[in-house]
Amino acid sequence: MARCLRLLFVSTPVGPLGSGLGGGVELTVVNLVAALTQRGHQITIAAPENSQLEGIQLIQIPGIHQPTAHTQGRDTPATVLENAVLSNQWAYARQVQHDYDLIVNFAYDWLPFYLTQFFDTPIAHFVSMGSLSRIMDHAVVQIDAKFPGTLGAYTQTQVDTFPPGLTWQLLSSAVDLSQYDYCDTPEPRLAWLGRISPEKGLEDAVAAAQQTQTPLKILGKLENQEYWDAIQRTYPNAPIDYLGFVNTQQLQTIVRCCQGLLMTPRWVEAFGNVAIEALACGVPVVAYRRGGPTEIIDHGKTGWLVEPDYVAGLVDSIRKLDRIDRAHCRQQAELKYSLPALGERFEQWFEAIIKAN
Ligand code: UDP
Repeated sequence: MARCLRLLFVSTPVGPLGSGLGGGVELTVVNLVAALTQRGHQITIAAPENSQLEGIQLIQIPGIHQPTAHTQGRDTPATVLENAVLSNQWAYARQVQHDYDLIVNFAYDWLPFYLTQFFDTPIAHFVSMGSLSRIMDHAVVQIDAKFPGTLGAYTQTQVDTFPPGLTWQLLSSAVDLSQYDYCDTPEPRLAWLGRISPEKGLEDAVAAAQQTQTPLKILGKLENQEYWDAIQRTYPNAPIDYLGFVNTQQLQTIVRCCQGLLMTPRWVEAFGNVAIEALACGVPVVAYRRGGPTEIIDHGKTGWLVEPDYVAGLVDSIRKLDRIDRAHCRQQAELKYSLPALGERFEQWFEAIIKAN
């Protein structure tokens, strides 16, 4: 057993933990805290005010939320707001840094990368999205040069979007399998999970649901109202049902009864936590062959990979969902995405950074 590490997690500044504004990185933070606490490490999280997470020391940091990177252009400069929660989180981190062996940054923002050189305590940067801006590309290149080994990411396809030649630790993701129940006998319906925002391509899933006349349950944070209104105007008769943003327990209750999960991203999804949540329930995934899902889904075994942006391909795959063995989907989630394995991977990464400091 490794020694007990004292870790300060600095959470995403785009919204409180539990709000859904942070997307998949929120679940990653929650799961990582569980996995590392289980291994005997001590974790404190500095997160935006109104964050919710039980059984952990949570420092609530006030301030204005950071705009999400996917709503900014590739050439948009770094955004530093007045009274930003991001600056407040890092002012706090600097003040308490000597109480910790390591600080872990979960923000996809230039500021913490830049500030790293002024800290005594080492900082690990977990990058939760692919390359979206020149300023972030520059930030990761600088960190790699000055603090090699401190960049972490979910998948190879995500890393491939950044400038070549950098050293990344690939850490994948995990689910707490005890929170997802297996269902062998689905109802004739589909699920789509995620932030309702253009890069997620919900309209293609709705089009496929309409063409196959299969009811589609939509769950997730309504991030872009205009986008959602446009989908409803375009497909007024599609058999869709938007159930809002729900917690993990409610999410798995709804998803596990579905024949399949649709993932239709327009962007290079860094991972796609929703894919492994579905597999954990025994639900196969139909996804565009793009980004993280290509590394998660075993074509023909745990779902179907479809030519990107091709609705007819989604329709074909939906019709073939009953060829997938649901028990095998659950087994693969157990085998590849367990919480203990996630804890071990991150622990090894953290130990290496601390040792090199
Ligand atoms: N999610 C949720 N409630 C919902 C819909 C989604 O908690 O009603 C969570 C889901 O568990 C997942 C996250 O939203 O962790 C979406 O993450 P993903 O990695 O799929 O995409 P991202 O938002 O990071 O692009």
